[in-house]
Amino acid sequence: MKKSTKIILWSVVVCLLLTVAGWFGWTWYDNNVDRSGWREKDGVMMYADFHGKPVSGWLDLDGSRYYFGEDHALRTGWLTLDESRYYFSTDGRMQTGWLELDGCTYYLNTDGKMQTLWLDTEEGRCYLGEDGVLRTAWQEIGEDRYYFDEDGLMQSGWVEVEENLHYFHQDGTLASGWQEIDGGTYYLSEEGVPVIGWMELEENLYCFDEGGVLYIGWTELEGEQYLFGEDGAAHIGWLEEENGRYYFDETGAMATGWTDIEEDRCYFSEEGTLHTGWLEQGEYLYYLDETGAMVTGKQEIEGEIYYFTPKGIWVLLVNPWHPVPADYELDLVEAEDGYLVDAGCLEALNAMMEAMRAEDLLPMFSSAYRTEGHQRSIWRSYVQRYMEAGYDEATANAMTAAYVAVPGTSEHHTGLALDIVGYDYYYGGHPGSTKAVQDWLAEHCWEYGFILRYTKEKQSITGFAAETWHFRYVGVEVSMDMKDSGLCLEEYLGAVDAQ
Ligand SMILES: [Zn+2]
Repeated sequence: MKKSTKIILWSVVVCLLLTVAGWFGWTWYDNNVDRSGWREKDGVMMYADFHGKPVSGWLDLDGSRYYFGEDHALRTGWLTLDESRYYFSTDGRMQTGWLELDGCTYYLNTDGKMQTLWLDTEEGRCYLGEDGVLRTAWQEIGEDRYYFDEDGLMQSGWVEVEENLHYFHQDGTLASGWQEIDGGTYYLSEEGVPVIGWMELEENLYCFDEGGVLYIGWTELEGEQYLFGEDGAAHIGWLEEENGRYYFDETGAMATGWTDIEEDRCYFSEEGTLHTGWLEQGEYLYYLDETGAMVTGKQEIEGEIYYFTPKGIWVLLVNPWHPVPADYELDLVEAEDGYLVDAGCLEALNAMMEAMRAEDLLPMFSSAYRTEGHQRSIWRSYVQRYMEAGYDEATANAMTAAYVAVPGTSEHHTGLALDIVGYDYYYGGHPGSTKAVQDWLAEHCWEYGFILRYTKEKQSITGFAAETWHFRYVGVEVSMDMKDSGLCLEEYLGAVDAQ
C-alpha cells in the first residue's frame, strides 16, 4: 500500500471516530439538561418533565400535589380516581382539610381523598353523607336519628332543639321509649321528647315531673296522694297495707272521705285508710260494715237493731215496737221554761222558736224530755180517765195507747221530741194561737231538723193518731229529705216490716 493511501485511510478512520464521539457527546449533553416546567398550550396547562416530556398522573411539586390526565392536561375541580374523589383548586393544587364549596362543606383527607359518612375530628363527630357533604340538623342514618349542630357536630346527652328537650345516647342516636338517665327514669316519645305529666301506656298510668323524671312511690300531686309502683305504674283499686286498706280511683288518686266504690259507699280517713264500724260525722252517726260499706235501713249490729236512712244516717227509732234502748245515753240540757231536751237539738230548737216569734206567733212547750216514771203516771191518768168514763180496762188501755206511748216507748224519753202549743193552750186569750203555731211548724219545722212525727195518713204505720203538737228532732239532713219524700219515719227508715 502506498504511504498516501495509508494516510487517507487513517484520516477516514479518525474522522469517523470523531463523528461518533461527537454524536455520543451531544446526546450525553442533551439528556442531562433539565427541561421540566409548566407549559401552556391552547389554554391547557401541562407540566414537562426533566426531559421536557409532558407528564400525566400524579405530580408532587413544591409541597403541592397535582394531577394530569392521560392527555397531560392539569386537572382542576372534582376528580374521581379509583372510586375516590379529589378536589383540585383552579391552579391545580390538590385540596386537603375542610372545603367550602357552593354552600356545602366537604372534608378532604391528607391524601386528598374526600371523606364520606362518619368523621371524627378534635371537635367531635361529623357526618358527611355518601356525597361527602357535611350534614347539620336532624339526620336519619340507618335506623337511627341524629342531630348535628350548625357546625355539623353530632350531639349527645340532653339537647334543646326547637324549644323541645331531646335526649341522645353517647353514640348520638336519639333516645325514645323508656330510658334510665342519670338515675332517673324517663319516657321519650317517638320524636325523642320526654313525657311530662301523665301518660297512659298499656293500661297503666304513669306520671313524670316537670323535668320528665318518672314518679316512684307515694307522691302528692295537686293535693291528691298517689302510689306509684317500682315500675312507676300508678296503683289503682284496693290496696291492703299493714295499717289498713286503701283505695285508689281510676285516675290513681287515693280516696279520702266519702267515696262511692261500685255499689258501696265507703269512708276513708285523711290518711287514706278505710273506716269500718261506727263513724261520727258532725252530728250524725254512720255505720260501715267489715267490708267498709256504709249500711242503710235495718241493721243488726252486735245483737242490737239499728235503723239508718237511705243516706246512711243512724236515726234512733222509738215507737210501740221499738223501746228506747237500755243503754241509750242522754245528754240533757235545759231549754226555755225549764224543759229538758237533748243537747244536740237545743240550738235548732232555739232558732225555730225564735223564727216563730219573729212572725208574732206565741209558741210554748207543753212537754219535752220525760222520764219513764213520768210516762207511767201519764199513762195511768189516761187509763183512769177512760175507765171513769165507763170503759173497761182493756178498752181504756187501747184508747190510751193511741195518744200515749207505753212507758219506755215514748220519744219523749230521748229528749229529742217536743210538744209545742200556742199561748191559748195554757193561758186562754189569743184564740187560735196554738193552731197558728202548729200550722207554721207543720210547714217549717223541717228546715230546723224537726219532723212532724204523727199524721192522720200514717196512723196505721206509726201506731199513733195525729198529733199536731209533737215534733221530733232528726237533724236537717234527714228532715229535709223526709219532707221531700212525704214518708213517715218508719217508712223512711225501712222499719215498717218490723211491726
Ligand atoms: Zn209528744
